[in-house]
Amino acid sequence: MTKKEYVFAFEQGDGENKKLLGGKGANLCQMTQIGLPVPPGFVISTEACLAYLNQKKEGLAPDLMNQIREAMAQLEEKNRKGFGDANNPLLVSVRSGAAISMPGMMDTILNLGLNNETVKGLIKQTGNERFVYDAYRRLIQLFGSVGLGINTDSFDSIFEDIKRKHKAKDDVSLDAAALAEICDLFLGLEKKETGRPFPQDPYVQLELAVEAVFRSWMGKRAQDYRKEFDISPDMANGTAVNICTMVFGNMGDDSATGVAFTRDPGSGENRLYGEYLINAQGEDVVAGIRTPRPIRALRRQMPEIYKELENLRHTLEDYYREVQDFEFTIEKGKLYCLQTRNAKMNASAFIKTSIDMVNEGLVSEQEAILRIQPDMLAQMLHPRLDPNAKEKILAQGLPASPGAASGKVVFDADRAETKAKLGEKVILVREETKPEDIHGFFAAQGILTSRGGKTSHAAVVARSMGKPCVSGCEAIEINNLTREAIISGKSFREGDLVTIDGSTGNIYAGEVATIEPEFVEDLLVLLEWADDISELKVKANADTPEAAAKSKKYGAVGIGLCRTERMFNQPKRLPIVQEMILADTVKERKAALDRLLPFQRADFKEIFKIMGGMPVTIRLLDPPIHEFLPSAEELVDEINHLRELRKTVEGMADLPPILKLLDPELHDKYTTHLEMITRGLEELKSKHLDEPLIEAREIMLRKVRALSEINPMLGHRGVRLGITYPEIYTMQIQAILEAAAEHLKEGGQVRPEIMVPQVCTLEELKWVHGYVARIHREVEKRFNIKVPFKFGTMIEVVRACMRAGRLAELAEFFSFGTNDLTQATFSFSREDAENKFLPLYKDHGILQHNPFEVLDIKGVGRLMMITNEWARKTRPTIEIGICGEQGGHPDAIRFCHHIQMSYVSCSPLRVPIARLAAAHAKLKEKDYSLV
Ligand code: ADP
Ligand code: MG
Ligand code: MG
Repeated sequence: MTKKEYVFAFEQGDGENKKLLGGKGANLCQMTQIGLPVPPGFVISTEACLAYLNQKKEGLAPDLMNQIREAMAQLEEKNRKGFGDANNPLLVSVRSGAAISMPGMMDTILNLGLNNETVKGLIKQTGNERFVYDAYRRLIQLFGSVGLGINTDSFDSIFEDIKRKHKAKDDVSLDAAALAEICDLFLGLEKKETGRPFPQDPYVQLELAVEAVFRSWMGKRAQDYRKEFDISPDMANGTAVNICTMVFGNMGDDSATGVAFTRDPGSGENRLYGEYLINAQGEDVVAGIRTPRPIRALRRQMPEIYKELENLRHTLEDYYREVQDFEFTIEKGKLYCLQTRNAKMNASAFIKTSIDMVNEGLVSEQEAILRIQPDMLAQMLHPRLDPNAKEKILAQGLPASPGAASGKVVFDADRAETKAKLGEKVILVREETKPEDIHGFFAAQGILTSRGGKTSHAAVVARSMGKPCVSGCEAIEINNLTREAIISGKSFREGDLVTIDGSTGNIYAGEVATIEPEFVEDLLVLLEWADDISELKVKANADTPEAAAKSKKYGAVGIGLCRTERMFNQPKRLPIVQEMILADTVKERKAALDRLLPFQRADFKEIFKIMGGMPVTIRLLDPPIHEFLPSAEELVDEINHLRELRKTVEGMADLPPILKLLDPELHDKYTTHLEMITRGLEELKSKHLDEPLIEAREIMLRKVRALSEINPMLGHRGVRLGITYPEIYTMQIQAILEAAAEHLKEGGQVRPEIMVPQVCTLEELKWVHGYVARIHREVEKRFNIKVPFKFGTMIEVVRACMRAGRLAELAEFFSFGTNDLTQATFSFSREDAENKFLPLYKDHGILQHNPFEVLDIKGVGRLMMITNEWARKTRPTIEIGICGEQGGHPDAIRFCHHIQMSYVSCSPLRVPIARLAAAHAKLKEKDYSLV
């Protein structure tokens, strides 16, 4: 059997193979191989880690240990030092590093190889006793805490005791003797805690350290992290261990250590950026023991080294073609590079550097595009909390719509509107929202609810408007009567300030500073490159002229979903809609519809105008109509209230005569007042408490009860409504086609597409198509102009998928409504699922994601594939898109590209993200596979 190679010298390891060598190890190999000053060392592979975790025996396998010894022998030779050599000791660091960098993995152990003997040798060699004991105490502590699991506090308290004893203000003022004393005490502690002395044999130190790193892969923190961020074994499996010769930044004033970036990660500016500390070891910079100095100060302090750093920066960028974040150490005037990795930056720095790097000829446009994760752009489209504001989190809900906002608390939509008109910023706080709250959404900076999931009404509407929303925050108790909310025990009255962060779900008391988004020029350039690459088109879901304008600004090539019912939800229109619903006869209903027609026509015309000839897909009325009415409970409450009040008013009318009878003097004293009150009450009664007025509410209540459905989402809605009340769809179709005709007459261009929701059979489509054909003829005749349009259907019912071939006979386009389709595929009622069992399903790994957030490719996606195949057999050129909310997410977009959909349609603010994701989908299509 050939021996498996587990150990790779930096000179020899394959730097491209991060999975085998880990990110840190692979980069150390690459840097060594391109001639950068990396201290000699080697990598123990992730395969060795996996083998170790699978073995039953304790200790490292003899074969692996042999390979390590061989590599150490080479290291001794390269450094001309001996591991454990009392006169000329070699010291190393032991560093973990998986393919993906992962907090929760084991920390680094420095100065391994020191023991009571080598300490003496090193002192003789360096003549620096203090430095050596400082290194030794660091080793003993790190080895003890990291390798043996001893609580760091025990070390820290010993350290503090000695500092006190020597009256030392800080670590640096401890002298060699004090540090030696600390070493002794640490050694004692370690023996006491583990029952074994600190290993003096360097190879035992090394073996135990490597084992500890391996085991940390399965530590709880690391496992939780992998779960949280969906890091699959495919992405990172096991951790590598890097053994690296120690270099010392703490050998005097000609030594230093620091961290730098090849460009400014805040602004993206092309200049060296970073910090350093003179006479310190690497960990000191991170630990914040002393305040580091900005890197530009090094130019004066060590001009030669600064030049070398500049060279290093260019070499790193030329090689990695990506902004780098690197660690360096200067030992007695010599520069070493200890680590490099791709820098994390904010979105605008990413974009700036991308464009710059293309202009500098460093990367291609395609590479520039691939550098940026589409979701990152969200940062640039929504206001976010100022990272410098360190406010305490008051409560947490669900991050339902991204962005941050501050404002005064209001408890209903009307108040939101009045206050906003006065120029105040408000946050609408409700248990949950309903369609009639819509004007409150327009007025508010953000929405906060105590109930409902990420797909609750509040969340969906807020997202479609691009307003921040935190939903389902159970720490909020709202008392609508007293207009007060208790949030995590703190009381908020109307007008008190809160801040919500819809990107994290966090809620803060008071006003927290936010940073406004900026749609920078650079982003436009980048997105144009993206459009040139991508095949999938990006449209927007937009219901109003304002949303249409926003869609266009963000580069949508059409409107993929215009929900007509959203137009009904405005304060002036809702009463007419209610009239239409409550109508007893067709005639009455038509009368109400006739009044709605001009509103809809005007909106459509405006949208057509804004979109300037781009396709606009308009969905006919979809939701169950009782959504436009108040709930039965509300009405019952209101009616009871009014009746009580009426009785009280009547009782008050009897008051003056009774008083006169009982106490004429008192009566005379108050006559005028009493008269005023009774007159006022009479007025109130006639205006609001009139019997017919109360009866009208009762009629509404009866109607609401009659319309109530056990399961409204599966009830009388969509095309079913359109067929049972033909006058509703007829009005809408007329409004669309007339708006188109008017706009054409005025010289504009239009491409209206009429879309029918909830269809499950061809017969339904035929039915509605009948109205369309008739009205189309009429309109063309009346306006004497040709009006182009398309007719199509939503696909959101499982039966529609199965009948795709037939539906495509009549439908010129399909649009997947993946919200309803997901609901129908899983038989999960969305709200119930999100509030009850989905969280547990996710925790237990029964489902990996909430399918209402992340498109379920295996199930819903499968249905989409079948649908497309059958539809294209009937009508090869059929246009197929997706307008469900999941459609704006990069994973869904990759899938849609893969199955050759024509477009995705998402909320206006997601359009830039989707455009970038569509380009990524094209560029990465080769390595896409359906799992
Ligand atoms: P992390 O991933 O937490 O940055 P590292 O393995 O990079 O862990 O090491 C922690 C600190 O120790 C860093 O500042 C690093 O530069 C420093 N360090 C690691 N190995 C050496 C070494 N051989 N010589 C000097 N400093 C080192
Ligand atoms: Mg590091
Ligand atoms: Mg739907």
